[in-house]
Amino acid sequence: MNKEAIVNENNAMIRDMIRDFAEREIRPFMRMWDETQEFPVPLFRKMGSLGLMGVLVPQEYGGSGFGYQEYVTVISEIARVDGAIGLSVAAHNSLCTGHILQFGNEVQKKAWLLKLASGEWIGAWGLTEPNTGSDAARMQTVAVKDGDYYVINGSKNFITHGKSGDISVVIVRTGKTGDTRGMTAFGIEKGTPGFSSGRKEDKLGMRASETTELIFEDCRVHKDNIIGVEGEGFIQSLKVLDGGRISIAALGLGIAKGALEASIEYAHQRHQFGQAIAGFQGISFKLADMATKIEAAELLTRRAAELKDNYQPVTKESAMAKYYASEISVEVSTEAVQIFGGYGYTKDYPVEKYYRDSKLCTIGEGTTEIQKIVISRSILA
Ligand SMILES: Cc1cc2nc3c(=O)[nH]c(=O)nc-3n(C[C@H](O)[C@H](O)[C@H](O)COP(=O)(O)OP(=O)(O)OC[C@H]3O[C@@H](n4cnc5c(N)ncnc54)[C@H](O)[C@@H]3O)c2cc1C
Repeated sequence: MNKEAIVNENNAMIRDMIRDFAEREIRPFMRMWDETQEFPVPLFRKMGSLGLMGVLVPQEYGGSGFGYQEYVTVISEIARVDGAIGLSVAAHNSLCTGHILQFGNEVQKKAWLLKLASGEWIGAWGLTEPNTGSDAARMQTVAVKDGDYYVINGSKNFITHGKSGDISVVIVRTGKTGDTRGMTAFGIEKGTPGFSSGRKEDKLGMRASETTELIFEDCRVHKDNIIGVEGEGFIQSLKVLDGGRISIAALGLGIAKGALEASIEYAHQRHQFGQAIAGFQGISFKLADMATKIEAAELLTRRAAELKDNYQPVTKESAMAKYYASEISVEVSTEAVQIFGGYGYTKDYPVEKYYRDSKLCTIGEGTTEIQKIVISRSILA
């Protein structure tokens, strides 16, 4: 069997497995998690036993050993049902776990990846700070060398799994402000003295995905916790984000697919003026636009995944996929609410949640504006 056939077979198997899992384990509870902002840790343990917490991790470190094509299927299929769970699975896999996988040493991979890939541990990744989001290179959290240790002070905000994360990969300043080689990544385990989580955000959408502050108060971390080389943390982050943006594209894609499927079903069921609303061209043209945008987003996302699987440069393509899939996710879910009319504006139907969740895709892992900067830099170079 050739590689393409194996990928297709894996994708079909993963799609069916996740559809079944999501219907049983996610759909019945997602509204409750959304309302109470509960981050359902036991669900992540279950997903670990299915290999969904180490999708890209090689089998020797306890992962599934899949490529980005399969990963796109995993994230989009989960997001088709619940974007918040999709976001958390994406952050765990591509950010925290992905950073350790790409840049960790053998000791770190054996100590951390096995637990992350099995779902025994949940991972967090901290780049953003209260005063430095898009402009992350100007971060203010500092690590000062003290013998074999570094003393970290400062804070990170908007960190997915900042409270429940068993390990956080954090990027902090070890050199001069503005020096892109003046930042270093550390793996810091939960319970390390001086390291705690702060306020949990009360969010518009993605409410079952936990988002909190990380606080560092004279937190002493051994030099063995440095991931890769001192000073390379920010450069590493950009590479991690190249892959991470494919997962946010998949997230937007999945949310849009879920919104379209719900809209098609509703358009057949809902009757006005003596006929199903699907029969009105005003509605069917909306559905045609939604379906076309989804196809285009999937092509861009699959293209980026293909390049990544073939170890090709992917910075421009992952930014394009992330930018487009995120924006159409918002457009598609907005139209879905319109198709549902007043019922779309209530919590009795799923589309208001797609609408709220989709917006995060245009913000997390680099806003739409930042993606356009990345793309334009690349085409103007
Ligand atoms: C739910 C959620 C989960 C997240 N999870 C994580 C996580 O796990 N780890 C992590 O490190 N971060 C995480 N983030 C943070 C996220 O990556 C940042 O919010 C994002 O990068 C934007 O930063 P900011 O919010 O500070 O916005 P700002 O950078 O302040 O941007 C504000 C506005 O200005 C625009 N802007 C900024 N600079 C430019 C420019 N040069 N040109 C044009 N427009 C510009 C932006 O596009 C935006 O519209 C998360 C955020 C959310 C909401």
